[in-house]
Amino acid sequence: RKPPSRKGSMADMPKDLLQEIKWLEELFTVPTAKLKEITTHFVAELTKGLTVEGGSIPMNPTWCMSYPTGYETGTFLALDMGGTNLRVCEITLTDKKSEFDIIQSKYRMPEELKTGEADELWEYIADCLQQFLSSHHPDEKIDEMHLGFTFSYPATQNYIDHGILQTWTKGFDIDGVEGENVVPMFKTALEKRGVPIKLTALINDTTGTLIASAYTDTAIKIGCIFGTGCNAAYMEDCGSIPKLAHMNLPPDTPMAINCEWGAFDNENKVLPRTPYDIIVDKESPRPGQQSFEKMIAGLYLGEIFRLVLLDLHDNKEVHIFEEQNLDKLRKAYTLDSSFLSLIEEDPFENLSEVQFLFQNKLGISATRPELELIRRLAELIGTRAARLSACGVAAIAKKKNFETCHVGADGSVFNKYPHFKARGAQALYEILDWPAKKSKKAEDPIEILAAEDGSGVGAALIAALTMKRVKEGNM
Ligand code: BGC
Ligand code: MG
Repeated sequence: RKPPSRKGSMADMPKDLLQEIKWLEELFTVPTAKLKEITTHFVAELTKGLTVEGGSIPMNPTWCMSYPTGYETGTFLALDMGGTNLRVCEITLTDKKSEFDIIQSKYRMPEELKTGEADELWEYIADCLQQFLSSHHPDEKIDEMHLGFTFSYPATQNYIDHGILQTWTKGFDIDGVEGENVVPMFKTALEKRGVPIKLTALINDTTGTLIASAYTDTAIKIGCIFGTGCNAAYMEDCGSIPKLAHMNLPPDTPMAINCEWGAFDNENKVLPRTPYDIIVDKESPRPGQQSFEKMIAGLYLGEIFRLVLLDLHDNKEVHIFEEQNLDKLRKAYTLDSSFLSLIEEDPFENLSEVQFLFQNKLGISATRPELELIRRLAELIGTRAARLSACGVAAIAKKKNFETCHVGADGSVFNKYPHFKARGAQALYEILDWPAKKSKKAEDPIEILAAEDGSGVGAALIAALTMKRVKEGNM
């Protein structure tokens, strides 16, 4: 259904509100020239991250060293420890090219675990795995199964079943894990239960996305996550990774790099951070880290939005939400990115859905002009996120000289946030100076497409590729 025209609605705005909207537009709009400047700096930082000295972007080698052929076979377990869910899958890669069967169960990831004790986390995950096995393979004595564990945090990997957590991200804050290899911690919990599972590969969600998508589409060259967090992976040649020179790998050997681009511009050189971004950072468990991620990832969009509205109410002349009780709005992280999605999706001219959302979730009755401001603010924050994300994709494409390619993308923001894809595609046009499309249906030179299941099928494929490599006697 087509939304009714909203033309003219801004014309009836009180002057002071209109002025605030103008100010917000300036604050949150990233013009083409700035996108280009960010991208140029991004390319340099990607390269720097691969050197021995390093930079702010970790550029972690993942020891995933080939694309799948489509002819991988075998049955594998995959475990995805996400922010909201824990997913366990059993994946069978069949004899038919690029085909697989999957069974899966989801478990809730209790909120307390994210800031609790390390042991509790590993015990909980091991319990879920054990439960999965006993419900899907009751009474069977099963042979040891190989597990691909998707651990979507920055980790230094000296080999594929190893990973030293560099820093927690996405609001996780569990003592005693940063700086440690997470694999033995997890293995101990598995061994205690005697579950016949061998952790074969520790995987980032972006690497899983890259490999799963490449399984069915050979044009895929980049895997991205635009979800609670934000990040990308691509295949580099070992010859372009100075920090791996000591390994003496043939220069043309491929190596998937988990960029961890959320850390881009931690030193605050190019990103157009607003006062609200600075507050989000300061009040996070890890200030000064994940600067790029904090401007674009789902975990933070609603929080930025909330901080702007509060500021308008508390400190600005306009006094929005006068005589309304703002107690609910004062609670940090009370709004997630799906709230902004819903605001942007309201099809009605009078923004009655937005009105309902504010009443229902926050107990706030907004006036019509306030509703217009709310909607515009959501658009600005969502658009900025999509445009900044495009800088990362453009930077990898530039670094690798990809004139054309497909990008596999996953995550709640990519899949559910309205217009995110179109806004990102528009930004790529601007950054990369593509000529206008000949027809509406024509493909863009670089297309960002919905990915295959990275932390399920991708993890299974990486486990399969690892076993093949070990069997062939390659490291
Ligand atoms: C993590 C990455 C992950 C991304 C998307 C970031 O916070 O550091 O490892 O790929 O979120 O889940
Ligand atoms: Mg995930």
